[in-house]
Amino acid sequence: MLNFDWDDIKQNGLVLECREDVSSWPELQALQEEEECRFLAPLEVKLHVYPAGDMLEVAGEFRTELEVDCYRCLSKFSMDLEGSFEMSLAKDLPSVEDEDGAEIELSADEMGLTLVDEKSIDLKPLVAEQILLAYPYRALCAENCKGVCATCGTDLNLQSCHCRQDNPLNKFTLLKDLKIPK
Ligand SMILES: [Zn+2]
Ligand SMILES: [Zn+2]
Repeated sequence: MLNFDWDDIKQNGLVLECREDVSSWPELQALQEEEECRFLAPLEVKLHVYPAGDMLEVAGEFRTELEVDCYRCLSKFSMDLEGSFEMSLAKDLPSVEDEDGAEIELSADEMGLTLVDEKSIDLKPLVAEQILLAYPYRALCAENCKGVCATCGTDLNLQSCHCRQDNPLNKFTLLKDLKIPK
């Protein structure tokens, strides 16, 4: 569970953990339904929420395992998807003044803050956003993957062919290029 109330966070903070199948994460489930990838393991999330003045700081980590298609050779391979992030939560926007004491209008975004309510704060959608930011839309099975030949379709990691190789890009990778996130 990644829910809490603002008042639950005492001096030492709170650790929230969950380990859930991707089916309970709609944003990630959507990737699987679009056949972008297959999740091979539950998603593990660990968050440390602690007070910082009028705000709450969140330090988070996530981890799962994916099966994806290589962007160059189109073969399937599995990889870890993991990352960490930090965010600051605020109940109200703090007022900011310029050198002359005049108030400056800044949005939460511009201040790097996320506005939340006092009760039933749910960090799940925010965590999903962070995971999507880390998602490998152009995963490579290996740093030096040679891809497939544009002319004959041979997987050049497995064997070479006799076609002329003047264009390192090929129609398959160009097609894959069009599948960028909306
Ligand atoms: Zn590859
Ligand atoms: Zn060839």
